[in-house]
Amino acid sequence: MAGSHRKRAPVLLPYPFPGPFDYRVPPELDPRPGDLVLVPLNRREEIGVVWDHGADESVGDNRLRPIAAVLDAPPMPANLRKFIDWIASYTLTPPGEVMAMALRVVDRQPPPPPIGYKLAEAPPEARRTEARAKVQALLADGVARHPHDIAEQAEVGPGVVRGMADAGLLVPVALPVAAAFALPDPARPGPVLSPDQAEAAAALRQAVRAHDFAVTLLDGVTGSGKTEVYLEAVAEALAAGRQALVLLPEIALSTQWLERFRARFGIDPAVWHSDLSSRTRKSTWRAVALGEARVVVGARSALFLPFPELGVIVIDEEHETAFKQEDGVVYHARDMAVVRARLEEVPIVLVSATPSLETMANVEAGRYTRLHLPDRHGGASLPTVEAVDLREHPPERGKFLAPPLIAAVEATLARGEQAMLFLNRRGYAPLTLCRACGHRMQCPDCTAWLVEHRIRRQLQCHHCGHTVPLPEACPSCGAAHSLTPIGPGVERITEEAAARFPEARLLVMASDTMPGPAAAAEAARAIAAREIDLIIGTQIVAKGWHFPHLTLVGVVDADLGLAGGDLRAAERTFQLLHQVAGRAGRAEAPGRVLLQTFAPEHPVMEALVAGDMDAFMDREAAARRPGHWPPYGRLAAVIVSADDGPAADALARDIGLAAPRGEGFSILGPAPAPLAILRGRHRRRLLLKARRDVAVQPILREWLSRVKVPHGARVDVDVDPVSFL
Ligand code: ADP
Ligand code: ZN
Repeated sequence: MAGSHRKRAPVLLPYPFPGPFDYRVPPELDPRPGDLVLVPLNRREEIGVVWDHGADESVGDNRLRPIAAVLDAPPMPANLRKFIDWIASYTLTPPGEVMAMALRVVDRQPPPPPIGYKLAEAPPEARRTEARAKVQALLADGVARHPHDIAEQAEVGPGVVRGMADAGLLVPVALPVAAAFALPDPARPGPVLSPDQAEAAAALRQAVRAHDFAVTLLDGVTGSGKTEVYLEAVAEALAAGRQALVLLPEIALSTQWLERFRARFGIDPAVWHSDLSSRTRKSTWRAVALGEARVVVGARSALFLPFPELGVIVIDEEHETAFKQEDGVVYHARDMAVVRARLEEVPIVLVSATPSLETMANVEAGRYTRLHLPDRHGGASLPTVEAVDLREHPPERGKFLAPPLIAAVEATLARGEQAMLFLNRRGYAPLTLCRACGHRMQCPDCTAWLVEHRIRRQLQCHHCGHTVPLPEACPSCGAAHSLTPIGPGVERITEEAAARFPEARLLVMASDTMPGPAAAAEAARAIAAREIDLIIGTQIVAKGWHFPHLTLVGVVDADLGLAGGDLRAAERTFQLLHQVAGRAGRAEAPGRVLLQTFAPEHPVMEALVAGDMDAFMDREAAARRPGHWPPYGRLAAVIVSADDGPAADALARDIGLAAPRGEGFSILGPAPAPLAILRGRHRRRLLLKARRDVAVQPILREWLSRVKVPHGARVDVDVDPVSFL
């Protein structure tokens, strides 16, 4: 009814309620869908969003509580509201819980304008000092300045400014709000692209100009210059007056990426990740909503930012499992980014040197377009990859580097080039065993061994973080000095390398030695400046780094990821090792990669050695297609957890008995989860496996609605699971 005053409005609150609640609209307010409002909830006032539907007509108007205020904040765009509803429905999560991710960072009030100071017109009598005279001289031009700038420009301490303000010598004035985010300049010339790059960039620019939903896979060998290509798509979006979103799997490690962005557009993009201060998050959220931030580079949660005029989405390293969020709302940021692009009617670019089988299947089915860069930029060649058969070339007793790898490192260092040893395991040793009684040091709260961290003299559980000091004696039999480390972690490899290559300057790159962006930036700088000879790292080193002087990569345990029954174990191992290998030989000097393995005949090793990704992916596809395993079928995991084993078993059994039957799907389990105990919770798993043309959500909804979950127990649903632990 146009023009008529709406009497009630549905408001979605950031809590796991089943949907929005209706509130009464007082005559003086006129909230529109998307508006942020303050409403009473129990005894508090909460921020909610006026939603588009969900009015509960059963509650009489007179019983509704009123909306207290409409906030002075940019509204949540309609597309974001649709996106939230879509994810809620797909992941079986209450919509308010999904919206909480988008709303946590909103202020009740717009930030106050910054306060500056100018000279008082009739200053009171006050003490005169040299410092005060400097401030007076600076402000003599009558221009108000921020106290921080006054102190800096007058070269006085901040206390001087404060003292003068207190004494009435300076008077406060509201400063105009400066744009927090500089505008990127899309007209700045980028690098001269190679013909392949230029062709791919033209296709992406065209897609952005078309301003329609389209998914493009940009795949190309490591070092082929994919980043420069997709930055052209970003430039096109900017030139068209639109915003751009780039998701990176590990934004904290992306200093080199930020440098390249700066080189291309002359400014820093807005960044978004969980380590930002709450103030920065709030101002960034607002700037995105107001269209002041034009490009956001972020972690998966950046997908929930309120872009009013999005023009393109880029997902770099689209194969990365880090895009799957496992806690809270369980969603895959790559897949949901495709959904957001569809709702926004904009193109999305998925970028990888090792695309996921999911994406390749979509290319094959004609749903996605593929742009391929076949060569490394600047004529660099791809590294040669060789397997080192550990049965033929065993390392010395108690050591982990085989003679051919040692020789290769020595030769590389002798040439003055850099080498890297890769082992995807933090700490010193993954298992600590008592030589006297065989006792294994286990986490009290998880089905997991404790990992020794020798530098910190601790044992730590890598699942829950539980730590204990390294005991002197076996806690089981009491034997002194009997605890022995079994197997290597990066710390142990570092110890071995330090003894083996005493002249080499070592750097360890692992999440615990390189916790934040500053440490990562410093590491990248030191490597580029050739202050480092040998890098030893976990999967962190596989991430997009460009180290021109690195020519040798040694993989200490190439078989590590292949154990366990994970559906994607081979695919992931291939992707990880291919990415690590891709760090070698990115400039003039050719690169060499050695894979230490007990299984050189394994298809993963053969594909890496042959450099034949397509053949490997074809093989993976052939292995999964007949059984309708993803991406040729659908999976959803149902994870039961309870305080004790019998309670978990009982609930899992009930759920199993309630399992629906029907065409095109089946239910596997219940079975104990591989991590049968996690943080003290006992876990069981069931798996719904369905044909691709079967929607799993209605089945799950109907199924789980028939099960009563007792107090203390939980049922979690993971649609399209990535982890099977
Ligand atoms: P990829 O992401 O495909 O692994 P990068 O985008 O990291 O490759 O490119 C590899 C290196 O080549 C980077 O240092 C990048 O700056 C450089 N590069 C790529 N394309 C160009 C170009 N057209 N002109 C100059 N340098 C380029
Ligand atoms: Zn634990």
